[in-house]
Amino acid sequence: MKTAGRQTDAIVLGAGIVGVSIALHLQERGRRVLLVDRGEPGAETSHGNAGLIERASVVPYAFPRGLSTLAAFASNRSIAVRYRPATLLRMAPWLARYWWNSAPGRLDRLGQAILPLIERCLDEHRQWTKAAGTESLMRDEGWIELYRSRRGLQQAVKAAAELAAYRLAYDVLDEAALQAREPGLLAGIVAGAVHWRDPATVSDPGAVTRAYAALFTARGGELRHADAAGLQQDSTGWRLSAGGEDWRAPEAVVALGPWSNDLCEPLGYRFPLGFKRGYHMHYAAAADTAPRHPLCDVEAGFVLTPMARGIRLTTGIELAARDAPSDSWQLDQAERQPLAVPEGFSLRWLHRDGAAPGSASLLTDALATLDWPAGEGSLYLWAACEHAAFRQIRAAARQYLRPEIDA
Ligand SMILES: Cc1cc2nc3c(=O)[nH]c(=O)nc-3n(C[C@H](O)[C@H](O)[C@H](O)COP(=O)(O)OP(=O)(O)OC[C@H]3O[C@@H](n4cnc5c(N)ncnc54)[C@H](O)[C@@H]3O)c2cc1C
Repeated sequence: MKTAGRQTDAIVLGAGIVGVSIALHLQERGRRVLLVDRGEPGAETSHGNAGLIERASVVPYAFPRGLSTLAAFASNRSIAVRYRPATLLRMAPWLARYWWNSAPGRLDRLGQAILPLIERCLDEHRQWTKAAGTESLMRDEGWIELYRSRRGLQQAVKAAAELAAYRLAYDVLDEAALQAREPGLLAGIVAGAVHWRDPATVSDPGAVTRAYAALFTARGGELRHADAAGLQQDSTGWRLSAGGEDWRAPEAVVALGPWSNDLCEPLGYRFPLGFKRGYHMHYAAAADTAPRHPLCDVEAGFVLTPMARGIRLTTGIELAARDAPSDSWQLDQAERQPLAVPEGFSLRWLHRDGAAPGSASLLTDALATLDWPAGEGSLYLWAACEHAAFRQIRAAARQYLRPEIDA
């Protein structure tokens, strides 16, 4: 069957928070955009995360270099970081580069490079919030880092003080002050906390992504179901068959998250993308005892976030092959921690979200983007900026697209 031909300015592949944000930014600059996904927008990694728009993490997440932390992770019994030995071997070159980029001098330079994105992340989201109808999904109460040990708390307070130059708003809470902000938390579980007050959180990250996608189509953008694997290059740029039509564009953007290399490698491009995955489940909680803020149990390695579907417990990371079967060990362990068991917050197990874990794609230098000329057209790859697309990608898209588009 012959398909109709449609010309557009850019094809954006992948409708997670990264692809949807890029499509909206291109559209705001007058581009005609085709956005494609094989599923629904925001149904993959952009659904299964902790929902933090993390304005306060101004230092990139570094590969740990301290021996005690490395030893704790090497034991493979931490909820914060777990690995499958065969995957670790396969990832060794990638991990070595990540370690190299995490050296203090390099980390400072990378931190300075992404700081402008972090500083703008909340304003960037707020700019779309009203038009997309997502105001009720955003909360501006920050998040709380809990410490069970006095030593852990002291180290965290010292680390926070070292960030004074960034002028972040935070409160150090002893147990009584924490109790006032989290009345549902029973006494005797934690030594104290640091409450970061700048960040915002979203109560349904998948719904935010869907709402941004709906805003894109309401403004005239084209959203189609299609397999990105059908992307072809010719002398004028890029072609893709989607929704019974043959689309052409001089530029294509790869925003396929952890699946990006599935498309790029057959085209002859190989990028240093690694994966981390994480698991989550939801709990029901009585309104008067539920957590009021996202709470990170730093020493145990998991986060509890009040969300639309209940209290979401999100584990730390697992280094496993992207399509490897799920392993519930981290969830099982987190569920037994004092904060999560009924004594901690009166939480009642509600449901685990499917068998598939969320997988986030990472570049070894924590930066967001790579682009390269491809024949007459251009192909761009966007991975999550510093592993946390919700906080940075809108700003990242703006920063990287501006010189190219506004010129
Ligand atoms: C446990 C965990 C907790 C996290 N917590 C936070 C947090 O608190 N704050 C934060 O900012 N970030 C957090 N992140 C990271 C954040 O979720 C990701 O950075 C972000 O969702 C990545 O978005 P994306 O658009 O790149 O990928 P995705 O959301 O995975 O989107 C990729 C899209 O590509 C589509 N696709 C794939 N292959 C094809 C194909 N062949 N054809 C067509 N479409 C295809 C998929 O269907 C999908 O919709 C967390 C991640 C994890 C795993």
